[in-house]
Amino acid sequence: MTIQHDEARKLLPIIVKAARSNQYLRYQDAAELLGRPRDNARTVAQVCDLLDSAAALADVPLLALVVVLTAENKINPKAWTANYVEPGIRDGIIRRSKGHTFTDADFKAIALALEELKGHSNRTAWKYLATLMPSAERRRRLAGMAGVALADDAINDLDDLGADSPGYKIVLAKQYARDQKVRAAVKARAGGRCEYCGEEGFLCEDGTRYLECHHIIALANDGADRMSNVIAICPDDHREAHFGKRRAEIELDMIAKVKAAEARRLGG
Ligand SMILES: [Zn+2]
Repeated sequence: MTIQHDEARKLLPIIVKAARSNQYLRYQDAAELLGRPRDNARTVAQVCDLLDSAAALADVPLLALVVVLTAENKINPKAWTANYVEPGIRDGIIRRSKGHTFTDADFKAIALALEELKGHSNRTAWKYLATLMPSAERRRRLAGMAGVALADDAINDLDDLGADSPGYKIVLAKQYARDQKVRAAVKARAGGRCEYCGEEGFLCEDGTRYLECHHIIALANDGADRMSNVIAICPDDHREAHFGKRRAEIELDMIAKVKAAEARRLGG
């Protein structure tokens, strides 16, 4: 399966280049660029799925899904299909990815995550992801939603431009349109430092500092998608806020810190 990983490595810069210039890539063209016959679209779809698992690992929306399209310029109609994913979840995954403005930090994060997935195929990569984080977190990463379980053995088993075995078994509750403006404003408020621990985020290729936006009260728990409920934090604190034993305590601290930050911001 290292061939698939090698091809994912080759394809990522091509996809990034297309995304940067707001262009799409067709599966057939991608096949050709990988030195394959144009009708090898299904193989390319699997390579894209591996890239999407890397994106999910990096907590970035699914880049390959929305950049590599069919001959009709459509998102692979069989990816995340209704048979395997609740229709609303598929919509959520697509909306989250389409609505996202991919940055250099995102591209870099996907490339790093892909290195972590060395030796994996798309199938085993999604399985690996399932071992790393609870289903609610995977769901949040894919569709921007949390709180409803994904089957832990679920994988998005792409084959022939589609899925041929049961994938995510998700029951849809609600969908959330996350506001990119809120994220951008919160990151600006943070000024490159984790708003929880104060550490400077690592330097990204584009000169910005890497921070992740976290909804203190989850949207699934009716938290607001507003600056007063979103905090820009380092990846360590983000994971601890989701999975740590001190979760509840951290939540209270974060509420206080954001309240103070908002007071400073609004007070000028
Ligand atoms: Zn931190």
